[in-house]
Amino acid sequence: MSEKFTGVFTQQEPIPEAGIEAALAVLRHGRLHRYNTVSGEIAETALLEEEFADFTGAKYCLAVASGGYAISTALRAAGVRPGDPVLTNAFTLAPVPGAIASLGAVPLFVGVTEQLTIDLDDLASKAGQARVLLLSHMRGHICDMERLMAICDAAGVKVIEDCAHTMGASWNGIASGRHGLAAAYSTQTYKHMNSGEGGFLVTDDEDLAARAVILSGSYMLYERHRAAPGPEAFERVKYVTPNISGRMDNLRAAILRPQLRDLAKQLDRWNERYRTIEDGLRGTPGLTVIERPAEERFVGSSIQFILLGWSEEKVAEVVRRCAARGVELKWFGEGEPKGFTSRYDSWRYVDAPRMPSTDRILRGLLDMRVPLTFSLDDCALIARIIRAEVSAVHQAA
Ligand SMILES: *Cc1c(COP(=O)(O)O)cnc(C)c1O
Repeated sequence: MSEKFTGVFTQQEPIPEAGIEAALAVLRHGRLHRYNTVSGEIAETALLEEEFADFTGAKYCLAVASGGYAISTALRAAGVRPGDPVLTNAFTLAPVPGAIASLGAVPLFVGVTEQLTIDLDDLASKAGQARVLLLSHMRGHICDMERLMAICDAAGVKVIEDCAHTMGASWNGIASGRHGLAAAYSTQTYKHMNSGEGGFLVTDDEDLAARAVILSGSYMLYERHRAAPGPEAFERVKYVTPNISGRMDNLRAAILRPQLRDLAKQLDRWNERYRTIEDGLRGTPGLTVIERPAEERFVGSSIQFILLGWSEEKVAEVVRRCAARGVELKWFGEGEPKGFTSRYDSWRYVDAPRMPSTDRILRGLLDMRVPLTFSLDDCALIARIIRAEVSAVHQAA
């Protein structure tokens, strides 16, 4: 009898009791809108921004309606205009090129390496063609950030970081999101904190922060923010910055504040699970584990491995056999996007040339979520199943 896994890959943990209590308090007083406060009250949203700024070490933080909104707002506030080319990862998820397209700007894709990070040689060769890079730390893999910043600084390219998968991660001791001009995070259900929908924008740049607050729909109530620049910064931008509403509300902020207090502990729990799966997979014939660089403190909320050089039929066979034993793998190389899209060629609103070396990696790239509802025993079982099925298909060559 072969073992089967019966857990659910999309089941997150419940909201902590403190978050439920705080949410009930907001529901009871009814002041959900972030600027709806009584005299002397500080809104949950403003407190959350202050706490998240602290957590990242950024000067300014703005809480917004989604991660995708945080990205498009960062791009807009950084001066991206319709028609501008914006460099970005060929391997990322749909909201990333989508944020660029939402401004009428044009994604210019940069390839991926076998470490699943942005190809810095490809970036260096294209850096002269754009003034902004939207860098996606896709699936939590962080590239050599010193080299990336050197390339971008030399070419005068501003860096906006998409940290949807690196909230709480760092490179060489610097928090992810703190190398570039600004960074965006998501608090959507499948990320590192869960408010259903939500996001953050952080930056040290006073003008960018002021523009972002006005863009988000602050109705000139910016003085109620506690992680925003002073009134002089707003005076400079308030008449020339449109309102494109995308605020966070106090209910979500109330749910998130206790989660932020627990985040460091949660990151350790993710990494225990990640290492258990990785240990179980390492050494499987035909399977390449992604070795994590020593400089990277990552968050193992998902795991990837590559079946490099395998035929499509055989990768499909592995996915099918694992699914039959309860293990849900996402195949980034699959021809038809299902349930998600992560390949540059599924975004046909962009006129992108083929990228053969990126195609080669994506063709064999498999991905799996690691929700905290899985125990370490679950993780060991999942690894045994993947190992057995990859080995079986590999041997049947
Ligand atoms: C989830 C995600 C986003 C956007 O987050 P939303 O909150 O869903 O808008 C951006 N980039 C990546 C890589 C993501 O996975």
